Amino acid sequence: MPGIDPQSTDQIPGDLVATFRTHLLDWWVHQHRDLPWRHTRDPYRILISEVMLQQTQVDRVIPYYHEWLETFPTVEALAAAPVAEVIRRWKGLGYNRRAVNLQRSAQAVVAMGGEFPRTVEELLALPGIGPYTAGAIACFAFEQDVPFFDTNMRRVLHRVIIGSDVPKPVVSDRRITELAAQMLPPGEGWVWNQALIEFGALQCTARKPLCVICPLQAECRARPTIHADIAAAGRKRGGTGEVFETTNRYFRGRVVDALREDASLTLQELGPKVKADFSSEDGAWLYGVVQGLARDGLARIAEPAAPYTISEETLPEITVTLPE
Ligand code: SF4
Repeated sequence: MPGIDPQSTDQIPGDLVATFRTHLLDWWVHQHRDLPWRHTRDPYRILISEVMLQQTQVDRVIPYYHEWLETFPTVEALAAAPVAEVIRRWKGLGYNRRAVNLQRSAQAVVAMGGEFPRTVEELLALPGIGPYTAGAIACFAFEQDVPFFDTNMRRVLHRVIIGSDVPKPVVSDRRITELAAQMLPPGEGWVWNQALIEFGALQCTARKPLCVICPLQAECRARPTIHADIAAAGRKRGGTGEVFETTNRYFRGRVVDALREDASLTLQELGPKVKADFSSEDGAWLYGVVQGLARDGLARIAEPAAPYTISEETLPEITVTLPE
């Protein structure tokens, strides 16, 4: 079976490159989904779709994508909108910081004259844009042959070229970037990267890879062990995971949801909306959650006097709103 040693920095064998490309691109032709952002080369629309797709399933993103573009049809419209309105429109997508970062990126583009930068390096300089999103915009909007990867793409590259990625990847992100660059067919970066994403989402999924009907099974290095590795990792994980409803992220989301409904709330009013058994003893904790949101640009705290000692008396005096 062709492949390369995880420890080496060798080039991928030419026959593996050729068969991987041929089989994946053929799979793409027959299996890919018709998604709205695959019909555009508008960098603003690509940015919106890519940010929404981080942490959110495709089916859920589609209606949000259309609604967002009706409300904020251009980068200028998003840049000029009140922050509170941007946060309200993000309702249901989760990870609210993404909305604030998206607007900051839009404002940076408008400050540059309204034209999106085209290179990965320039795109990386925009607020909140990481290597994946910069690569995706350079590739999917400007059709440049740039290597980049998200978790789906990394999984496919790792499994086919290196071997099993379970319980964890055995090569670094830097090595994956090298592999992604070697695999890119010149002049076909757009379709290649779309195909890798789609294959990782539909065929070579994290928990249930469809190896039996996989067009890459003959060359895939992970194929012999991947199902056993996934089963063993599942047994080991057991039920020790943290309950989401007790996490900081859950309560941050609850605060932002409450502020979407009521423009202005005191900590005393906010507490029971966020935590069913809220008492004044939770005041300092709630204030900490709100301060974290304020640091991230997701809330505004109006305080008549500082410094504050959070107590039963001061809870009604501290008001929280969405940012202006
Ligand atoms: S054979 Fe299995 S592990 Fe390998 S690429 Fe196909 S689906 Fe993924």
